[in-house]
Amino acid sequence: MHLSEILTHLGEDHEKYFGATAPPVIQTSNFVFKSVAEFRSAIQHEFDEHIYTRGNNPTVKMLREKLAALEETEDALVFPSGAAATAMAVLSLMKSGEHIICIEKPYSWTRTLVAEILPRFGISYSFVDGTDTEAIRQAVQPNTTFMYLESPNSMTFELQDLAACAAIAKENGIATLIDNTNCTPLFQKPANLGIDLVMHTGTKYLNGHSDVVCGVICGSRKNIEKIFHAGYMTFGNIISPHDAWLIMRGLRTFELRVKRSYESALKISQWLEKQPKVRQVLFPMLPSFPQYELAKKQMKGCAGLVSFYLDTESVERVEAFTDKLERFLLAVSWGGHESLVMPMAAFYNMPGKENPPLPPNLVRIYVGLEDPDYLIEDLEQALAVM
Ligand SMILES: *Cc1c(COP(=O)(O)O)cnc(C)c1O
Repeated sequence: MHLSEILTHLGEDHEKYFGATAPPVIQTSNFVFKSVAEFRSAIQHEFDEHIYTRGNNPTVKMLREKLAALEETEDALVFPSGAAATAMAVLSLMKSGEHIICIEKPYSWTRTLVAEILPRFGISYSFVDGTDTEAIRQAVQPNTTFMYLESPNSMTFELQDLAACAAIAKENGIATLIDNTNCTPLFQKPANLGIDLVMHTGTKYLNGHSDVVCGVICGSRKNIEKIFHAGYMTFGNIISPHDAWLIMRGLRTFELRVKRSYESALKISQWLEKQPKVRQVLFPMLPSFPQYELAKKQMKGCAGLVSFYLDTESVERVEAFTDKLERFLLAVSWGGHESLVMPMAAFYNMPGKENPPLPPNLVRIYVGLEDPDYLIEDLEQALAVM
């Protein structure tokens, strides 16, 4: 289906709501029935029917349909956060006695899920260097049932060869899930490479306006139905119709925003590479990126996230650089309209806490929708104070 068809029309029926161009927010908790017979029939098909908004809601369903089409999967579910989406998929599909393979440097809260929560339910884990496909194969145990991937990952953008990982998983009857937040379905469609479940933080580009926290799981109807009955309905991990509506509103401009952010980030990363005060730039679509060939093979672009190592070992100098930035706001998260900066140095020198494994001169910027030259001016004046 054409991307424009999905973002503009799919799942919408103006005749149902007075010809309004924008769909309504069906802000209701429950739905009425005309007869006991109709009601009885609905409760036998809870996955498909509107009975109660903890299950189905028409506004949320319209969004689910668009998301599934974007990832070219049969169905999708929307959760109140990306972290909830990952946790609910894993907890719905795994059981005690099983083993999960997870890439070495996943999103921080995914690490907590795998290393701290799952063991409490008798699930063991291996963290594996995802850039090494052979290491992933070696990590498979007889009780391995789940493989968690994130490509590119959060701070240093390491990739996994998705087709190769999917093949290993298929040979061994392992379910695969990828966090595809970075690339979005615009630049990478993992289901077409054989990955079973595609997860997103809708908080980032899908919504794109820094005003909703949500998460997404896309997959086959069979898997989505399993997660619907367990992690979604039983754990009650749902999104409000109003938030679903906001994400659909964000999706109207999804293609424009993601392309703009990517193209500006590419330009800024090329500029950064020429700065003497910058030691190394990490951006998957730069020829200098260690896995550039793989990036070109499985991605059409990537998020407007650029990491770089400043030419210093000093936390204070990184701090001075970051504090001098005016147009990049100092904040976590990314994917909105506004450019952001996140220095690893901020996680250093905290009383009673260990320093993080990544070095303090690593800085990650998110390039938003502003003019890239306007953003370069800001980086230039901040580098000058270092
Ligand atoms: C932000 C983020 C998450 C977590 O999403 P929330 O919506 O904040 O729970 C997970 N994975 C990646 C790659 C992220 O950037």
